[in-house]
Amino acid sequence: VAKTSDNPLIVQIQKRWDSLILVNPQLRPIAEFHQEVCKRIYQSPVHLTELPFQSDKSGDSSALLKEKLKQGIAFLQGEEEVLDFTLPVSLYRELLQMAFSYKRILNPYQSKISSGSFLNRLITGARSMVQADKSQESQRDIRQLFIHVLQGNMDRIAQEAEQLHLSPDLLLTLLHYSLMPILQAYGARLKPLLDLDLWTRGNCPVCGAWPSLSELRGADQIRYLRCSLCGSDWVYPLLRCPYCENADHEKLGYFFVEGEEKKHRIYVCEACKGYLKVFPTLDPTPTEFLNLEDLATLHFDVVAAERGYSRPYPFQKL
Ligand SMILES: [Zn+2]
Ligand SMILES: [Zn+2]
Repeated sequence: VAKTSDNPLIVQIQKRWDSLILVNPQLRPIAEFHQEVCKRIYQSPVHLTELPFQSDKSGDSSALLKEKLKQGIAFLQGEEEVLDFTLPVSLYRELLQMAFSYKRILNPYQSKISSGSFLNRLITGARSMVQADKSQESQRDIRQLFIHVLQGNMDRIAQEAEQLHLSPDLLLTLLHYSLMPILQAYGARLKPLLDLDLWTRGNCPVCGAWPSLSELRGADQIRYLRCSLCGSDWVYPLLRCPYCENADHEKLGYFFVEGEEKKHRIYVCEACKGYLKVFPTLDPTPTEFLNLEDLATLHFDVVAAERGYSRPYPFQKL
């Protein structure tokens, strides 16, 4: 019997999973793992002091932010070296420890889904975790790993994974989860400062990641892309691919899973073979639930992969 949490957020997350499991019992192992991760990453609130602009000595971060947005550069891009990775480093160590015990129950889902999917990165590999546990990576090395993640240096992640005897997908997933609390703190902090009229890109204006899902909001059905790493949202045309910016209607389409026509759709691009989940919503999905809703629609990732579509890793350079 799982111990009940007194953290209201964890209780809400548990309630959401319970209702999803009622409809789809297959989600149980994923739900359990996700809740264990959330208990750790959301155990204490993050307090940000200053915004980490290394190039800014004047202290006027809003002017600098505006300039970056105009140039199509996300807030955190170029600032990686000055980020405080203390919390991500300690979370990473905890999650690494924890992931091993979940390896067996998650294995059946392996290889059915696209490599860009969050869960696939979580469950593939997971071998030799014991060895990884024993290796004593220094705080500095882990910090460098986070910089590689944010800069999209996938080959460096792969190298590190090999040294740790871990699958690159698993390593990446643990690193992403470990980064979430601080990225979400930046997302919340920057929201009032962001002039999104200046941002026309398909990736996140705050952390630079690709969206993990999108929402068609309200009666106007305007599409908002959502970043599950930092929680940001930004408007993006429905008839344009966020990955390759293809706007040729002939090469864009969507499909849905039978019985879920009204709930979710998958928009696809024939130019780059990318896909993105689209959820009709009244209100924005709360930041801490974005990753949950993405995981809960794993069957969409399976169908998309079967049809030859994929999605990039969050910080992957295309
Ligand atoms: Zn983001
Ligand atoms: Zn495309």
